[in-house]
Amino acid sequence: METMLAPKLLAADRCDVRCPAQAQVRYRYPGDGLLDFCAHHADTYEVSLLASGCILEEDRRAPEKETVADKARRRYPLPDSKGTMI
Ligand SMILES: [Zn+2]
Repeated sequence: METMLAPKLLAADRCDVRCPAQAQVRYRYPGDGLLDFCAHHADTYEVSLLASGCILEEDRRAPEKETVADKARRRYPLPDSKGTMI
Protein backbone atom coordinates (compact mmCIF):
# COMPACT_ATOMS: atom_id res chain seq x y z
CA MET A 1 0.00 0.00 0.00
CA GLU A 2 1.37 3.39 -0.93
CA THR A 3 1.35 6.07 1.75
CA MET A 4 0.78 9.65 0.68
CA LEU A 5 3.30 11.90 2.40
CA ALA A 6 2.55 15.57 2.84
CA PRO A 7 5.33 18.01 2.06
CA LYS A 8 6.97 19.43 5.18
CA LEU A 9 6.15 22.94 6.31
CA LEU A 10 8.60 25.48 4.94
CA ALA A 11 9.53 28.92 6.28
CA ALA A 12 7.67 30.44 3.33
CA ASP A 13 4.38 28.67 4.19
CA ARG A 14 1.82 31.09 5.62
CA CYS A 15 -1.27 30.70 7.77
CA ASP A 16 -4.39 29.91 5.72
CA VAL A 17 -6.61 32.20 7.82
CA ARG A 18 -5.77 35.40 5.91
CA CYS A 19 -2.98 35.97 8.35
CA PRO A 20 0.59 36.86 7.35
CA ALA A 21 2.20 34.74 10.09
CA GLN A 22 4.43 31.78 9.29
CA ALA A 23 2.59 28.45 9.34
CA GLN A 24 3.53 26.31 12.34
CA VAL A 25 0.91 23.56 12.16
CA ARG A 26 -0.37 21.50 9.24
CA TYR A 27 -3.61 19.48 9.26
CA ARG A 28 -4.86 16.98 6.73
CA TYR A 29 -8.59 17.18 6.26
CA PRO A 30 -10.88 14.47 4.90
CA GLY A 31 -10.49 14.34 1.12
CA ASP A 32 -6.71 14.63 1.45
CA GLY A 33 -6.32 18.41 1.46
CA LEU A 34 -3.92 20.31 3.69
CA LEU A 35 -4.54 23.30 5.93
CA ASP A 36 -1.71 25.38 7.41
CA PHE A 37 -2.09 27.57 10.47
CA CYS A 38 0.09 29.82 12.56
CA ALA A 39 0.34 28.80 16.24
CA HIS A 40 -2.33 31.31 17.27
CA HIS A 41 -4.91 30.16 14.72
CA ALA A 42 -4.04 26.49 15.30
CA ASP A 43 -4.80 27.01 18.99
CA THR A 44 -8.03 28.78 18.08
CA TYR A 45 -9.36 26.18 15.62
CA GLU A 46 -7.69 22.92 16.64
CA VAL A 47 -10.54 21.43 18.67
CA SER A 48 -13.08 21.95 15.88
CA LEU A 49 -10.63 20.82 13.17
CA LEU A 50 -9.90 17.57 15.00
CA ALA A 51 -13.60 17.07 15.79
CA SER A 52 -14.42 17.42 12.09
CA GLY A 53 -12.01 14.64 11.15
CA CYS A 54 -8.82 16.56 10.40
CA ILE A 55 -5.55 14.88 11.33
CA LEU A 56 -2.62 16.73 12.83
CA GLU A 57 0.07 16.25 10.17
CA GLU A 58 2.88 18.43 11.54
CA ASP A 59 3.19 20.60 14.63
CA ARG A 60 6.07 23.03 15.15
CA ARG A 61 4.53 24.90 18.05
CA ALA A 62 6.75 25.19 21.11
CA PRO A 63 6.44 21.81 22.87
CA GLU A 64 5.92 23.33 26.33
CA LYS A 65 2.95 25.34 25.10
CA GLU A 66 -0.40 23.99 26.21
CA THR A 67 -2.77 23.53 23.27
CA VAL A 68 -6.47 24.29 23.28
CA ALA A 69 -7.09 20.54 23.25
CA ASP A 70 -4.92 20.17 26.37
CA LYS A 71 -6.82 22.99 28.09
CA ALA A 72 -10.15 21.40 27.18
CA ARG A 73 -8.95 18.01 28.46
CA ARG A 74 -7.82 19.61 31.73
CA ARG A 75 -11.07 21.50 32.12
CA TYR A 76 -13.38 18.68 31.05
CA PRO A 77 -11.54 15.45 31.99
CA LEU A 78 -12.83 12.27 30.41
CA PRO A 79 -12.78 8.86 32.08
CA ASP A 80 -10.55 6.27 30.43
CA SER A 81 -11.63 2.63 29.97
CA LYS A 82 -10.96 1.93 33.67
CA GLY A 83 -13.02 4.88 34.80
CA THR A 84 -9.94 6.91 35.75
CA MET A 85 -10.22 10.57 34.89
CA ILE A 86 -7.58 11.51 32.31
ZN1 LIG B 1 -2.80 32.81 11.57
